[in-house]
Amino acid sequence: MAARHHQILIVGGGAAGITVAARLRKAEHEIPLDIAIVDPAEAHYYQAAFTLVGGGAFELADTRRNEADIIPPDVTWIKDAVASFSPDANSVTLADGTTVTYTYLVVCPGLQINWGGIKGLKEYIGRYGVCSNYSPNTVEYTFQLQKSLKPGAKAVFTQAPMPIKCPGAPQKAAYLASDYLRKGGIREHCEVRFLTATPAIFGVPFYAKELVKIAARHNIEVSYNHNLVEIDGRGRKAIFDVTAGDKQGQKVVLDYDMLHVTPPQSAPDFLKNSPLANATGFADVHANSLQHVKYKNVFSLGDAAGTANSKTAAAVRKQAPVVVRNLLHLIKGGAIEEAYDGYGACPLTTGYGKVLMAEFIYGGKPTPTLPLDPRKEHLVNWWIKTTFLPRLYWDYMLKGKEAFPAHNTNYVDPGA
Ligand SMILES: Cc1cc2nc3c(=O)[nH]c(=O)nc-3n(C[C@H](O)[C@H](O)[C@H](O)COP(=O)(O)OP(=O)(O)OC[C@H]3O[C@@H](n4cnc5c(N)ncnc54)[C@H](O)[C@@H]3O)c2cc1C
Repeated sequence: MAARHHQILIVGGGAAGITVAARLRKAEHEIPLDIAIVDPAEAHYYQAAFTLVGGGAFELADTRRNEADIIPPDVTWIKDAVASFSPDANSVTLADGTTVTYTYLVVCPGLQINWGGIKGLKEYIGRYGVCSNYSPNTVEYTFQLQKSLKPGAKAVFTQAPMPIKCPGAPQKAAYLASDYLRKGGIREHCEVRFLTATPAIFGVPFYAKELVKIAARHNIEVSYNHNLVEIDGRGRKAIFDVTAGDKQGQKVVLDYDMLHVTPPQSAPDFLKNSPLANATGFADVHANSLQHVKYKNVFSLGDAAGTANSKTAAAVRKQAPVVVRNLLHLIKGGAIEEAYDGYGACPLTTGYGKVLMAEFIYGGKPTPTLPLDPRKEHLVNWWIKTTFLPRLYWDYMLKGKEAFPAHNTNYVDPGA
């Protein structure tokens, strides 16, 4: 196949790829740019609202746009998948065999969901009481199941080992289900359990302290170091490996009526198997500049970047301006900025009308944007989650507009 060339090639037209392309377009008054996005997807989803869809508080249709409609004007869309990277030759190979060369590369193909990583998951997902907010194809079934729970029901929520998209999302689903049952007057007659493969409820201790209390308030039994390994859909049984503690090495088998699964996730195989990957398979970029440590004309952001931030669209929002400024520095001359501080945010829906807004940077330092106590659930955060953030995403972030208030890096934990 014939080779083609673009000055800036963006792999992945998700939250990160579209935001970077749109911001680059806005910089065109400074310098003309030739930008292309490679992405095979027909649809783009605002995945951050999937938790709300699973809880019946948001329409799936409102999370979806045609990819064609969100590619910024004058950006070339190559509607194919990248199959491999050859950074020494400044090229990628597409699934159809075409080679595309580039001067600068932005790597943002997101996370790969490994549905095959749990025995029985592929077979039973979407039926036999097995749902997941982690795909547009299965998220509506979450709410169907939630609505179908009767007194005596057992609802089981699981969390896979890291890395996963939005590490707070698995427990959010449990809180919404619990609150739904409470509103229906049957909460005390149902069992709600949350089992996570991680050793703590949340990776940031400042917020984890509060979340432990919130789970207890919901009367949700939380089990740590429990990794879902098998589902028997017909028998309605979930089987866990206990990975640490007194019961390490044992299997735990739970009956369920509703099983919400967080599927295992990883770097996409084609990235993992490339010279761009670090030991964990993600793009080996500098934590603050997002520039590749070896290939200086390569950047990565979003879920595919090998940085220690929480894998969220909120992180993308703060990473994209840094990547764009650094690309322009490379093109026009200028010093690379180490300006990304690891910001990520996880609006934890702890009930209908209740959100704990977890915002933090590298090292787990809390960095709230609003002057509100970040340890508390606030009604305004529910409005931010359900109304403001979707608008911010579609109308500002994906359009490359500057409308983002700064987070407070000087916040001091009053309880420390
Ligand atoms: C259930 C759930 C809840 C979430 N909640 C929140 C939240 O509350 N707040 C928050 O900020 N974030 C949340 N997120 C996370 C957020 O959606 C992601 O962090 C964000 O979308 C990452 O952006 P990205 O561009 O890196 O990846 P994505 O947006 O996933 O985009 C990746 C793109 O790469 C493309 N691609 C894949 N393979 C290839 C290939 N081989 N070649 C070319 N293109 C390819 C895909 O088609 C896709 O368009 C949630 C996610 C889920 C699933």
